[in-house]
Amino acid sequence: MGKTIGIIGAGIGGLTAAARLAADGHSVSLWEKNGRPGGKMNEVRESGFRFDTGPSLLTMPHVVRELFEYCGRNADDYIELVPVNPLCRYNWQDGTQFDCSTDLQHTLAQIQEFAPEDTEEYIKFLGYTADLYQKTAGTFIMNPLQTIKDLRSLKKSDIFKIDAFPTVSTRVDRCFTSPYLRQVFKRFATYNGSSPYLAPATINVIAYVELCLGGYYLKGGLYQLATALEKLCTELGVDIVYDTEIRSIITENKTAKGVRFEDGSRTETDVVFSNSDATHTYLQLLDENNLKYKQQQKIQYIEPSCSGFVMMLGTSVRFEKLVHHNIFFSKDYEKEFTEIFHRKVLPEDPTIYIADTSYTDAGHAPEGGSNLFILVNAPYLTEKLSWNEQKCLEYGDIIINKLEQQGLDGLREHIEVRKHITPQDFYDLYRSNKGSIYGTSSNQQLSAFMRPRNKSPYIRNLYLAGGSTHPGGGIPLVMMSARHAVTIFNREQ
Ligand SMILES: Cc1cc2nc3c(=O)[nH]c(=O)nc-3n(C[C@H](O)[C@H](O)[C@H](O)COP(=O)(O)OP(=O)(O)OC[C@H]3O[C@@H](n4cnc5c(N)ncnc54)[C@H](O)[C@@H]3O)c2cc1C
Repeated sequence: MGKTIGIIGAGIGGLTAAARLAADGHSVSLWEKNGRPGGKMNEVRESGFRFDTGPSLLTMPHVVRELFEYCGRNADDYIELVPVNPLCRYNWQDGTQFDCSTDLQHTLAQIQEFAPEDTEEYIKFLGYTADLYQKTAGTFIMNPLQTIKDLRSLKKSDIFKIDAFPTVSTRVDRCFTSPYLRQVFKRFATYNGSSPYLAPATINVIAYVELCLGGYYLKGGLYQLATALEKLCTELGVDIVYDTEIRSIITENKTAKGVRFEDGSRTETDVVFSNSDATHTYLQLLDENNLKYKQQQKIQYIEPSCSGFVMMLGTSVRFEKLVHHNIFFSKDYEKEFTEIFHRKVLPEDPTIYIADTSYTDAGHAPEGGSNLFILVNAPYLTEKLSWNEQKCLEYGDIIINKLEQQGLDGLREHIEVRKHITPQDFYDLYRSNKGSIYGTSSNQQLSAFMRPRNKSPYIRNLYLAGGSTHPGGGIPLVMMSARHAVTIFNREQ
């Protein structure tokens, strides 16, 4: 018989869990503190410009398709996937430019120009990342890793072949001579908010996911996925309530019994799923007496991923130099990551990412203009660095100056809309741990085993889905976290 299930948060994790549970015949209520679905997958519209304010790249679209199939639907009826090529245009301060794409011949022809010594290595490295994918996808991503039974499916021999001992940087430096390719491949560690100088080389698998499986955009913007999931949930009968923050999870004898709202009223449910950050769930939404001191400490010490500083610029002109995804690299990558992860200050010379969706979707800016979503990695919130309007203007100006120096001529004078999002906003808006943008960091060798589990080991009938839980951050992994939470729940019924 169907259960009553309460879900906290309508991020991608909460919506995915809700759809799966409703498709399984449960009665699902979903509460979201903000007025719209998607969580960090959000959008802003102003003066004819449209910006995705969170994700701009979708990888592993088969994970999205699988969700719709599970719910008896076809994803193509809800979203239009657009492969992006080149995947990314990389720019260096000496003027070198590289359009990296899934078209191997085209990519190799360019490498032949700027890093001929590494042309063979590029192919070999892709082979190595493919091998990593084969060994890790089933074991770590598709596996709930919850019980001893799940661990049995781990091939012991594979554990020693997933390159967990060197860091991303060490492995990449061993494989490539070219400083350009070294920087390109180290960058993939940032896809889950980690440092290439700390994260295990296993993370090199991300390069395979993008370069071999492809990178996608959704027609209309990535936010289309949030609205598609909301539609799917509504069709399946999920009751979604917006502008409703859950104050706490009601427990009795360490068993979740429902939720309490800000006004003190409560709703009882058989089971609670939390899509709120795991740290927030355990330390803010549960009464203290639910967790032992050591358990609380363990959660307090979870290292969040990095955060980010976002600037959205609506401009009256287009820039020849830009394609859909663009990177302007810093001169000293190691220094940049030392600043973000060790010194926890803003990088002096940040690597700048720009998504220009008007390159693919002309309607995202008034005619002749462009909508530039600019993201630089920033430390998660600490007392060292406080955010205010002045700081945004100052740091934003540094970025604008750098972009003008690197070929976006006249950028400043053509700005019509300028908006910022800071690490503090990521906490205030979505309650993410210290404003992190990808959840839990992968800066340790055994990160895959250390992320909070999808079923709480402390509280019965409490499940967790989202980037801060297993298997990690980014759209496809968050959707997998929801799938794992529901799978574990189902097998216990
Ligand atoms: C700037 C940026 C760029 C990114 N780029 C990419 C990218 O290109 N590709 C990619 O795959 N990923 C990217 N990501 C990461 C991706 O967006 C996240 O991993 C994913 O969206 C997180 O989903 P989630 O469900 O875990 O959490 P969230 O999106 O944080 O959702 C949690 C939801 O719970 C709600 N909530 C929390 N507490 C409560 C409460 N007490 N009561 C009610 N509601 C509550 C929050 O309001 C929120 O809506 C990016 C993220 C950011 C911010």
